[in-house]
Amino acid sequence: MKRFEELNIKPELLRAIKEIGFEETTAIQEQSIPLIKAGKDVIGQSGTGSGKTAAFGLPMLELVESGKGIQALVLVPTRELAEQVSKELIKFSKYTPKHILAVYGGVGIERQINELRRAEIVVGTPGRMLDHLERRTIDLSKIKILVLDEADKMFEMGFVDDVRDIIRQTPQFRRTLLFSATISSDVIDISDRYMNDPEVVRVDVYVEKSHLKQGYYNVSTRDKFSLLTHLIRTENPKLAIIFCATRHRVDMVAKNLERQGINAEPIHGGLTQARRNKIMEEFHAGKIHVLVASDVAARGLDIKNVTHIINYDIPKTDKEYLHRIGRTARAGEIGKAISLLSEQDYDNFRHVQSNRDIDIEKLAAPQFQRLPFDFGSRSGFSGRPSGFHGHRGLSQFSRNPPARGRFGRRPQSRGY
Ligand code: ADP
Ligand code: MG
Repeated sequence: MKRFEELNIKPELLRAIKEIGFEETTAIQEQSIPLIKAGKDVIGQSGTGSGKTAAFGLPMLELVESGKGIQALVLVPTRELAEQVSKELIKFSKYTPKHILAVYGGVGIERQINELRRAEIVVGTPGRMLDHLERRTIDLSKIKILVLDEADKMFEMGFVDDVRDIIRQTPQFRRTLLFSATISSDVIDISDRYMNDPEVVRVDVYVEKSHLKQGYYNVSTRDKFSLLTHLIRTENPKLAIIFCATRHRVDMVAKNLERQGINAEPIHGGLTQARRNKIMEEFHAGKIHVLVASDVAARGLDIKNVTHIINYDIPKTDKEYLHRIGRTARAGEIGKAISLLSEQDYDNFRHVQSNRDIDIEKLAAPQFQRLPFDFGSRSGFSGRPSGFHGHRGLSQFSRNPPARGRFGRRPQSRGY
C-alpha cells in the first residue's frame, strides 16, 4: 500500500491523519483518491471498515473553502452514520477547520437551521435533508461535490426517490461520488442518470482469515439463548455484537441477557435517537461490553476493537455474513465469529456457505445451564417457550459452573 504522502494530500490533512494513526492507505483509498483529485466521478465498491470515509473525505476537504457556503454534501442512510462520518471529517480537518454539520431527523430542527447558515460541509440523511429543502433552510446551489455513502443500504431502505429529489436540487456541474458495498440495480440506475462517466473502483471484501476464528454450534431453538449466555460468560468478550434477525428478537435477547445479569444493550431503528447515541457512546467508552443489534442498525457503524461477533440468527446471505464479521479482527487483531445454528437457520446457513471463501468450522457443543427465556408481551418469537420448562438450577448437563469474569452472575430474580 502507498503512504498518504505519495497521494499529494495537503500537509494540514496529513498532519491530522498522522495523529489519528493512519500510516498507509487502504486499497480503496489508494485507488480512489487520485481519481477524485483528478476531478473524476467515482463509484467505489468495498466492504464495511475498508476506509471509505477518508477515501472521499480527504479529497473533499481539499476542495472546500472557508466562508463560501455549503460546498460538499454527503448523503448517508442512517443517523448513526451521519454522526460517525461528520465526526471523522472533523478529525481529519483539525488543522484546516471547516464548518461540518450532521443533519438528521429525530432531533430538533431549529438548531440545525441555525448552524446550516454557516455550514460548509453537510452530512445528512435523505429525510431530514428534504425537510430542510422544503423549508428552504438549506442552500445547495454552491455544492461542488456530492457523495452518496452506503448507497446500496440507502436505496434498500427506500430512499431512492428522496435521493433523486435531492440530487436534482444540486448544481449540474458538480462531482458525484458513490460508495457502496454492493452494486445493486438502483445503484446502477442512479449512477447512469446522475454521474458523469464514472470510474469504478472495486475492492473485494477480504477478511484476514488467520486473525478471525469462525465457528458454529448446532443448537436446538429452545437452547439457543442458554448457549448464548454460556458463551458470553465463558468467552468474557471485551466487546461483542450479537446479531438478531428482527427488532423484536433484538429486544427480547437483550432483555433476557439483562435478567441474567449481563449488561447488554439493544440497538435498532425503533429506538429514539437520544437513546441510540447514548448506547453507542457507552459502547465506545467500554462501559457496555455486549451490544445486541439488527443488521440495519449496525451496518456501516465504525465500532473499533470488537472481539466477538455472535450470530444469534444466521444472516440471509453471504454478503450480510461478511458485513457482520467485517467488524472484528480489524487491523491485525484477533477476533471470533460464532454462529448459533438451529433448524430455522438451515436455509440461510446454506446460502452463507455457498460462498467458498467462507470457512466456518463446526464446534462441539459445550455443556451449559438451561435458562428461562421471557418472550415479552408479543409472541413473534419462533420456537417454543423453553424458558417455562422449569429448569431452575443447574441442568443435568452442567457439572462445571460457568466462569466468573466480567459476566459473573448476580443474584437472579425469579418469578417469571
Ligand atoms: P467504511 O466507511 O469503509 O466502512 P471507515 O471509513 O468507517 O470504513 O473506516 C473504518 C475504520 O478504519 C475507521 O476507524 C477509520 O478511522 C480506520 N481507517 C481508515 N483508513 C485508515 C488507514 N489508512 N489506516 C488506518 N486506519 C484507517
Ligand atoms: Mg462508511
